[in-house]
Amino acid sequence: MLHQIPTPPADAAERRARKPVVVYPNGTLRNPDMTLLEKARATMVKIDEVIVPPRDGRAFRAPKGHFVRIVSIEGPQVGDLNLWNANDLSERFFSGKTRALHATHVTTGNRLWSSLPSLRPMATISHDTLGWYGWDDDGAGVHDVIGTRCDPYTNRLLNGSDYHHCCHSNLCGALATAEGVTMGEAEQHVHDVLNVFMCTGFTRDTHQYFMKASPVRPGDYLELFAEIDLLGALSACPGGDCSATHSSDTAACHPLKVEIYRPDLDLLADWPWPERSGYVLQP
Ligand SMILES: [Zn+2]
Repeated sequence: MLHQIPTPPADAAERRARKPVVVYPNGTLRNPDMTLLEKARATMVKIDEVIVPPRDGRAFRAPKGHFVRIVSIEGPQVGDLNLWNANDLSERFFSGKTRALHATHVTTGNRLWSSLPSLRPMATISHDTLGWYGWDDDGAGVHDVIGTRCDPYTNRLLNGSDYHHCCHSNLCGALATAEGVTMGEAEQHVHDVLNVFMCTGFTRDTHQYFMKASPVRPGDYLELFAEIDLLGALSACPGGDCSATHSSDTAACHPLKVEIYRPDLDLLADWPWPERSGYVLQP
């Protein structure tokens, strides 16, 4: 310890013994109709697919009512996902609020929320073949919304070297290509990610963010239902399965596949498509 720890007050034990309260009670959050989504899933047909090469990024589009499948194809691989409203890039995935409303890791039935002032579900997780994983003995789970994304700035800060295929860079490149803008312009829109297939937690003793080998295997997928028109970008992280290192060419890396499916949209005629929040900020 480099700093002095203050002497605990006389009632320290009592203060620590107060019971935790879940910040956002789940009972007040309206659950999506998963039975209806299952009906729609049963009719869906693949209309497009995109291969994301290892240590690279690609964008994809999914109209409202379609399904997006992120598939492991050749070996254990983690993907860093960004989502935008395809018609307004200022509305984007809000990993912090998604974590607060659901948990540190997300799975089937959870939703991916958008940034303020819109704050609506951009997507609902409709299927997760890793849903069996739960929480392991290290307290880790899969598909985290606690990490940020590997980036070349932190890499230079910590290692003093430059690496050009970090997820941040890959997402910038994917968005720049999709929107026909410069890397600098795209960078303004890249945000904290959903770490698809990534297995992470906090160490019990020091509460530090840790990663361990992803349990994903070829054939596994995470599937999202697009609640609004989506533009997405996915990076096949240079960390591969994130069992050891990232931000280098050391780890074994594999491609990822993004599949877009269209269901019978008539089945979703009564789906409660989310509107942007109606709240207006007061001066
Ligand atoms: Zn990464």
